Amino acid sequence: MSNIVSVVVNRLTRSVDKLFDYTAPDELYSKLKIGSMVYVPFGKGDNVIEGFVVGFPETSTVDSLKEIVAISSDEPLFDEELFAVAKFMKEKYFSTLISAIKTILPPGVGVHFDKTNEMFVKGVELNISYDDAYSYLELLRDKAPMQTRVLELMIQNDFVSYSDVCMITGCSRTVIKTLVSKSILIESEVSVYRNPIDYDAIEQTYSFEPNDEQKTAINMISDEENFGTFLLYGVTGSGKTEVFLQCIEKKIKDNKTAIVLVPEISLTPQIIERFVSRFGKKVAVLHSKLSAGERSDEYRRIKNGEVSVVIGVRSAIFAPIKNLGIIIIDEEHENTYKSENLPAYHAREVAQFRAQYNDIPLVLSSATPDITTFYKAQTGEYKLISLTKRVNQKNLPNVELVDMRQELINGNRSIISDRLREEIEKNLKNKQQTILFLNRRGFSSFVSCRSCGYTAKCQRCNISLTYHKSNESLTCHYCGYTIKNLKICPKCLSPYIRHFGVGTQKVDDDIKNSFPGSTTAPMGVDTTTKKSSHSDILNRFKEEKTDILIGTQMVTKGLDFPSVTLVGVLAADMGLNINDYRSGERTFDLITQVCGRAGRGEVAGRALVQTYAPENDIILHAKEQNYIAFYENEINLRQILRYPPFCDIISILFTASTNNSVSSYAQKVRNYIERAFLLNNIIDSSDVLGPTPSNLSRINNKYRWRILIKCNMNDKIKTIINNLIKGHNKTKESKWITMHIEYNPNNIV
Ligand code: ADP
Ligand code: ZN
Ligand code: ZN
Repeated sequence: MSNIVSVVVNRLTRSVDKLFDYTAPDELYSKLKIGSMVYVPFGKGDNVIEGFVVGFPETSTVDSLKEIVAISSDEPLFDEELFAVAKFMKEKYFSTLISAIKTILPPGVGVHFDKTNEMFVKGVELNISYDDAYSYLELLRDKAPMQTRVLELMIQNDFVSYSDVCMITGCSRTVIKTLVSKSILIESEVSVYRNPIDYDAIEQTYSFEPNDEQKTAINMISDEENFGTFLLYGVTGSGKTEVFLQCIEKKIKDNKTAIVLVPEISLTPQIIERFVSRFGKKVAVLHSKLSAGERSDEYRRIKNGEVSVVIGVRSAIFAPIKNLGIIIIDEEHENTYKSENLPAYHAREVAQFRAQYNDIPLVLSSATPDITTFYKAQTGEYKLISLTKRVNQKNLPNVELVDMRQELINGNRSIISDRLREEIEKNLKNKQQTILFLNRRGFSSFVSCRSCGYTAKCQRCNISLTYHKSNESLTCHYCGYTIKNLKICPKCLSPYIRHFGVGTQKVDDDIKNSFPGSTTAPMGVDTTTKKSSHSDILNRFKEEKTDILIGTQMVTKGLDFPSVTLVGVLAADMGLNINDYRSGERTFDLITQVCGRAGRGEVAGRALVQTYAPENDIILHAKEQNYIAFYENEINLRQILRYPPFCDIISILFTASTNNSVSSYAQKVRNYIERAFLLNNIIDSSDVLGPTPSNLSRINNKYRWRILIKCNMNDKIKTIINNLIKGHNKTKESKWITMHIEYNPNNIV
């Protein structure tokens, strides 16, 4: 037999997660490349469906092969390198090959779009969990092909405008409205950049003369001729960005290219401008707020080799750029680098794969590196480069802690301490601006005492217990330890022990009452409607038309307002209490970042951090802005309690609509894993925890149970997990129980 072609079909079901062989007539065969999209007859009825060419084997084990019907366009949609990336993700994150392939493809690529010129676009977002979306997809598949296509698109994108959904899927608006009316999708609106980049408005800038530390950094990175991972560690303003601008400049001189990843939240016009001012039209920008038309234009420029630098969010790591010379990840510790869709990849791990594939350096940059990253820099796996001084000699703001327990004793039960009130008043008088930061993470899910700061924690896992309203209980979601909800603090016997709930709006009301006449800008999910988008709010604040900006995570990063002299962190320890082993590093990062918003202009800044735990090490180290001390403390804890980097975590989540069936099924899976671990001699080097109800124990009337495995990932474990997936798909239970496996998840929810 000749002209054999290996094809991956565009079907998400696990049972067809393998390569299918086809033949092709000579004329068609000569056009096929790895990554070509083709139409093939499939299944019993020989329905024609989409597929992707992934190989040209010499022989096939199947006797009579079906023939490929047609090729969709002469241009392949991915090359060998990106296919290798897809295979890597399939392996590492236990996904199907087709969902890995779909992840490397930009949505709607290969289709021609007109440019839309609107500043605000209406569109839709997913309104259900990914697990539920995948289950629903299978239900819809044969009944409603148009709804299926729309849902597939929405699984891959945070937000898609109405017009883009219609263009990409070919459906009418009615189809989208149907999904909205079923609450599968929800309508929303985002602002898009009119043009991704206004090149003409940006003035050319040139490299600064690097200081000694920068010079060393630039040389070390540029001298690396092979694969190697660097950690560029230094406080904000120490010149890290300038270092990578100059490293990229050197690569461009050698006709090489670069990918620069930034977290969504800091992909601001300022950072784009900085790159464009150096490299002009050689820069392409990729992020989710581009219209599909703009995104497709950017991809075309990249594919045509018109671009030397791609700057973008997480998914830009899949940019089809050739001749890569360097990959840079700014703020490498950020959560947004980990995808929550299948395959749940981490951009850092994919970047490492691509850097290795191209044999080039990877640079990770941060002022507060991920604990695992810093550990690897300590143990020599990564090369550590430190920038110890701020370039402009400006001091970090002075940080003061406010003990909120004392406030309660003094009879102040409001969210804002007397001390902070005083400082806000001072700022209003002096016509200086204030940012109030509300840490929403962990609000209302944990129980804490307002008199003594006690929080209910699991003794075995040192993680806060989660409050479950349905049965008034507190549960540890790592090991399942459960107690009745507390009415009285076990430490100080105060009745003021409860779970918390505060929103941006409440803080805004409080401020307006206390300071009549002050102008505030509350910025939260609940307050940003079409009339006041984020950028409007920020612009008004920047033009000093508002006195006080109130917000959650959005106000922490990348904002540079010279007349902000005061930052108030309303509840610094909130984040500490969420039931996640990484809550410490997130809290530290947040406090450091948000305090860094103060005093960027001529007047020195100050930050007030309200806390119920002023003696907590993490809060104290954050006050001193001492990352190293924080790291040393944290790495010890991780070692003692056995968390990454000292092990990997595999989460197995089960969802179904009846509680009993899902918990007993999860128990069966646990037994299987234990037996398999025992047989393979890995039981002693691993911990199998659970099943326990997951943090969000019921969503959309589906019960969720979880098994957590702490282990050192190896091939044996991979095989056991893959066998589990295969076995699960063969059970009758798999029809109503969904099993979702995640490797080193970001959040255990
Ligand atoms: P980071 O990325 O660590 O926050 P940046 O690279 O943004 O630091 O540098 C902080 C500020 O100092 C920027 O305004 C930058 O333009 C400026 N800067 C950086 N390096 C130099 C240098 N060698 N000489 C003069 N100014 C510099
Ligand atoms: Zn526990
Ligand atoms: Zn107490």
